Amino acid sequence: MNLIFLGAPGAGKGTQAEVVCKELNIPAISTGNMLREAVKNGTKAGLAAKEFMDRGDLVPDEVVIGILKDRIAEDDAKNGFILDGFPRTVAQAEALEKMGVNIDKVIEIHVADEAITARMSGRRVCEGCGNSYHIEYKPTKVEGICDACGAKVVQRIDDKPETVISRLKTYHEKTAPLKDFYAAKGKLVTVEGQDEIAETSKLTLAAIKG
Ligand code: ADP
Ligand code: ZN
Repeated sequence: MNLIFLGAPGAGKGTQAEVVCKELNIPAISTGNMLREAVKNGTKAGLAAKEFMDRGDLVPDEVVIGILKDRIAEDDAKNGFILDGFPRTVAQAEALEKMGVNIDKVIEIHVADEAITARMSGRRVCEGCGNSYHIEYKPTKVEGICDACGAKVVQRIDDKPETVISRLKTYHEKTAPLKDFYAAKGKLVTVEGQDEIAETSKLTLAAIKG
């Protein structure tokens, strides 16, 4: 099964993608995590992406499309995958079609902007494996240390309030049109993401199986 998780920054699509990845045993592919890794390693794509990411802008389509194309060609993606944070523009969705990728469902995790800005200050990410946490809603077992790999858990530079506002604006302008794009193909399912994480997971799994 090939799935897309759509949603505003901080709506919890990464957290839900991790849950569904375990449940269906298909990889969750986060372009945000891959880009952060590329920045950390100083690769060509990373150097091209950094300034956009720090500002809260989208990385140019050709950079992200290139990374994604290579990733879904890997062995573990043969039986399906969850795309978390891709596509983020209509051009990226069209590129996916050009690659011949068939999408089964698009799950939109919906959270109102006001709830998002309140949530973001508590968000943390693992420097090692990219797992996401929240100091209040999804804390690590040991403060500041990733449960999965033991690396340090930090706040992202682009989770500053000013940057979050600009990321939300970008989401509404460039990414939200994808809702219509996939609704027209009968593939969009919207899940309310405002409640507890476990509750949203139940709704998400039901949406995928239903
Ligand atoms: P969020 O928590 O905002 O959903 P991500 O971790 O998915 O964040 O992405 C972080 C940043 O990486 C984005 O603000 C953007 O700069 C860049 N990025 C990730 N995926 C894409 C994409 N598909 N297209 C363009 N830029 C992307
Ligand atoms: Zn980790």
